[in-house]
Amino acid sequence: MKKVLVIGAGNVGAHIIQYAVTRNIGAEFYLLDINEELEKAQILDLKDTLLFSEKAKVEGINFDDPRIEEMDIIVVTAGANQGPGETRCDLLKKNTSILQSIASGLENIKSSAIVLLVTNPVDILTHIAYDLFDLPKQQIFGTGTLLDSARLKWRLAEKMNINIKNVHGWVLGEHGDSEFVAWSTVGPLNTAISQSEKEAIELSVQRQAYEIIEGKGATYFGISAATNCLLNAIIHDTKQILPVSTIYPYSDHKSLQNVPIGVPATIGANGVEQIMELQLTEEEFQKLRKSADKLCKLYGSCPI
Ligand code: NAD
Repeated sequence: MKKVLVIGAGNVGAHIIQYAVTRNIGAEFYLLDINEELEKAQILDLKDTLLFSEKAKVEGINFDDPRIEEMDIIVVTAGANQGPGETRCDLLKKNTSILQSIASGLENIKSSAIVLLVTNPVDILTHIAYDLFDLPKQQIFGTGTLLDSARLKWRLAEKMNINIKNVHGWVLGEHGDSEFVAWSTVGPLNTAISQSEKEAIELSVQRQAYEIIEGKGATYFGISAATNCLLNAIIHDTKQILPVSTIYPYSDHKSLQNVPIGVPATIGANGVEQIMELQLTEEEFQKLRKSADKLCKLYGSCPI
């Protein structure tokens, strides 16, 4: 079984393991948190679910443990969370130094290990991870706009009264305020959805995280399901096309060449295996470039 190290035993990290164990993803999970008391409590709580799973293993671990070198997948959820009114970008400074300390504890990981970033701002932290980990870029990627695309799809499925699995298309760009719905990729599009409805849907997708945080302090169900979708693709080499944070290689736009951003790619045992060349409208490409420009500017101001 693949060994998955989840760093950060907070809402997101613990829910990722809980979802994986319940869904029988078929991997061993190791949880690590700087807060050892929390880590221990989460492990005990998670072990209570093992009876109801087919085959799973959940253990606490620390950076000094030699088993760290055996990890196949490292999921980074450690970091400060978005507070009410705080943007993901406000988190950048705090979470950059946390990522630096994590990377220094992971110096001896396997050369085939895959590092999956969840911590926000996820696109920029993916870029910073490129600098911190001595791994090929295809083995380092972020959850990107997968969660945002899920937020789009349930809205469209409800609006058109169709099965969510039949809704296709992507939210692209930054996982954050400059993301956009690439409507040219969305289908089937019921003509009953007017332009103003599309705009309202896009805005509610962009604002959903703020709304959840306002009401319950953090978001974790959606991201744990989305991360499990990526873990499943890696563990079972499914080559599913999913919008993740990676470098888009088909553009001569400088920012796009430099910063990871949410674009569709096939995910398999080797991580990001193939990035899809997008067939967007000129207006959508412009939004993608603008989103990349914003991320590049922020990366330039990062204290790494
Ligand atoms: P949380 O505060 O509940 O948990 C974060 C945990 O990280 C804490 O337990 C803390 O002790 C731990 N931590 C801090 N520094 C550490 C270090 N150096 N080593 C190990 N552990 C450390 O937060 P959460 O709700 O679990 O959210 C975690 C991150 O996930 C946040 O950055 C949040 O914004 C992000 N997130 C991303 C998405 C996405 O779509 N990518 C969605 C939701 C949340």
